[in-house]
Amino acid sequence: MTKEVIKGRRIESPSSVNTFLQCKRKYYYRYIAKLPTKSNIAQIRGKAVHSVLENFFTIEISDIKGNEFYDYFRLKLIELFNKHWVIALGELMKLDLPKTTIKEHYISSLDMLNNFLYRFCERLDKDMKTLTLQEAFSRWKPEAEIKYYSEKYQVLGFVDAVREIDGEVSLWDYKTSRQDKISDEYYLQLGIYALMYYEKHGRYPDKVGVDFLLHGERVLPVDDKIINNAKEQLIKIHTSVVSNEFKDYPQTIGPLCKWGTGQCEYYEECFGQKKLSSYGIGSPASSEGRIDDTIKKKDLFGIRVN
Ligand code: SF4
Repeated sequence: MTKEVIKGRRIESPSSVNTFLQCKRKYYYRYIAKLPTKSNIAQIRGKAVHSVLENFFTIEISDIKGNEFYDYFRLKLIELFNKHWVIALGELMKLDLPKTTIKEHYISSLDMLNNFLYRFCERLDKDMKTLTLQEAFSRWKPEAEIKYYSEKYQVLGFVDAVREIDGEVSLWDYKTSRQDKISDEYYLQLGIYALMYYEKHGRYPDKVGVDFLLHGERVLPVDDKIINNAKEQLIKIHTSVVSNEFKDYPQTIGPLCKWGTGQCEYYEECFGQKKLSSYGIGSPASSEGRIDDTIKKKDLFGIRVN
């Protein structure tokens, strides 16, 4: 039997779908015009922390004795983080940020990793009433960075952690954000993960969740509602992004353009002096893409834009 496939312009990802929902213009710049991407400190830190958590579960634990495990793991986690932070430093320095900002991110990342470790060790401690450390460790050890793909819905993504405990499967995304609530954006991301898992295994995972590293885990059961939401949004994006025309991807002007300590990576293209022609892309037919006179006269989100 031929599988029905939703035809789109490209294979999407949870991140591209959410970009489209946030701001169509941003989607255009990133996925159609393919403008060079710019890093920011939140992304660089997030990447370093994710790498640490991926590597943490591969450490050698056969020699750990008795109750020394917390100190041993803590040391390993710090070693791993320092290694990945040094790798990240080259990119961080290019951002030309005050040293205090970089230091704050270093310290808060270690806090997040410590929180994660504390919660993990509490679980081990509980299990070690009946299991050895090694048995408890492998019980809680997730599969990391698992690639999933839905041919039918033309979407691909990597799940940070897949856990199976006593036959119950849960999919996890690590977040280094300050917030600790499952927003609509995260709900959709988790729904897409669950949908891709279903396509691969023929059953829903039992749970999906976000591990907010600063705060703790928030978990949701997987039901038809979360799966159908993912399907609807995927169909919507595939049918909406067939055009290559700049004008078909309007701006969504709001707090995601500029905020206290940063701005959207395409702010200059939207409101500044940078034009698409500087990337060798033809000028848009309309005057969109530059801030209009009405907006120029205003303070935009508290920041004077002209
Ligand atoms: S600056 Fe605002 S309008 Fe422009 S791409 Fe970014 S989010 Fe969209």
